[in-house]
Amino acid sequence: MKYVSTRGEAPSLDFAEVTLAGLASDCGLYVPESWPHFSAERIAAMRGLPYAELAARVMEPFVGDSLTPERLRELTAKAYGRFAHKAVTPLVQLDEQHWVLELFHGPTLAFKDVALQMLGLLFEEFLSREEGSLTVVGATSGDTGSAAIDAVAGLDNVEIFMLHPKGRVSDVQRRQMTTVRAPNVHNIAIDGSFDDAQAMVKRIFADTDVTAKHRIGAVNSINWARLMAQVVYYFAASLQLGGPERKLAFSVPTGNFGDVFAGHVAARMGLPIEKLIVATNVNDILHRALADGDYSAGSVTPTSAPSMDIQVSSNFERLLFDVGGRDGLALAEQMRGFDASQAMRLTNAQTEGVALFTSARADEDDTLQAMRWACENCGEMLDPHTAIGLHAARAADIAPLVPVVTLATAHPAKFPDAVERATGLRPSLPARVGDLFAREESFVELPGTYETVRDHIMEHAS
Ligand SMILES: *Cc1c(COP(=O)(O)O)cnc(C)c1O
Repeated sequence: MKYVSTRGEAPSLDFAEVTLAGLASDCGLYVPESWPHFSAERIAAMRGLPYAELAARVMEPFVGDSLTPERLRELTAKAYGRFAHKAVTPLVQLDEQHWVLELFHGPTLAFKDVALQMLGLLFEEFLSREEGSLTVVGATSGDTGSAAIDAVAGLDNVEIFMLHPKGRVSDVQRRQMTTVRAPNVHNIAIDGSFDDAQAMVKRIFADTDVTAKHRIGAVNSINWARLMAQVVYYFAASLQLGGPERKLAFSVPTGNFGDVFAGHVAARMGLPIEKLIVATNVNDILHRALADGDYSAGSVTPTSAPSMDIQVSSNFERLLFDVGGRDGLALAEQMRGFDASQAMRLTNAQTEGVALFTSARADEDDTLQAMRWACENCGEMLDPHTAIGLHAARAADIAPLVPVVTLATAHPAKFPDAVERATGLRPSLPARVGDLFAREESFVELPGTYETVRDHIMEHAS
């Protein structure tokens, strides 16, 4: 399997290379040159498999020659063996039509673990072959940071610098990052928003002063390997609820568009999907883009779902490329226009190509109502991100016989204040996160200017 850049000018790479490269050298994102296709028989034959085996079968065509089938199975068994639930991503029924797919049973209580536990192992595997090392630079609105740090803490050949927007992540989220004391982990709180942090990370990849000295790696969903790992649970849910004979809809709490893009990949691979519902909070650039083709960024409004407080969604570029004729040079031009004006119109081909998607937006009140509804009617506690997904799932116009699966992206105990405000109940942290509030924190605070952050990384990277 070869991977090509969405901006048409970077060299095509194999899976191992793409995993270590992260962002393409032309600032585009890597996507498979073509989509593998699974027949209905091949999908049906995966029914009832343990999650780790299902994962290996879904990932196999994307991994190509970079891992033997045996090695791939060892890695998926190790990655998903760390989850606190045997089913890894269990389904919970809410009512006749609605289901929740719990993706938060990993070590840091967010769905990011599903991909990052695997990515950490892939880094280790591919670096050990060439005796190389990797300096990971990442931006987090809360959950990527902790999941990535958990996945790479203590590895010999990987060092991680994680930027988070100061004061805009929850206490639990911050402590999950800053209390990990490993020599290869560096936390940085910056003055600014997640979008500012993400823009800095992209600049570092393009900064030749940095890249001449360090090989920079990505843990954000710009890294293809993350999306690949997320495709698996769309198959898992479908197989539980009657797929491939029956179509499902998925509602996905969306920020950087990585999770829902994995749903698009599953559909391209042949999984029958009725609709992908993009759920946003009041930071609703994607809702506007999908509703009327207007992709224009405003400023970020902080909400009770901080992992979705994003205006510029990196992975939307992958969708525009895939549905818009796969013309990298034309897309590079379109994205340059967006970078200059923070606004663009989707082309006709792009607008027609997003027909599988629909969207809905939830404000704070909608979010609280959804948390309350799930608690009162189904005895389920949802975190605010998942609640936004449920709001969108119930607002979307889906035929009554089509099951709608909302992806539960975080454990409610990651956002205890919001949950308590909505329901009067305070979720407790699962024992597996340990004495989070007793441990000492370690992080530096830096102003939100690119040069300061770059110099800090250059000075502290070994
Ligand atoms: C990261 C995250 C999201 C957004 O996922 P994307 O792949 O960036 O769209 C939603 N909810 C939670 C809890 C998250 O951590």
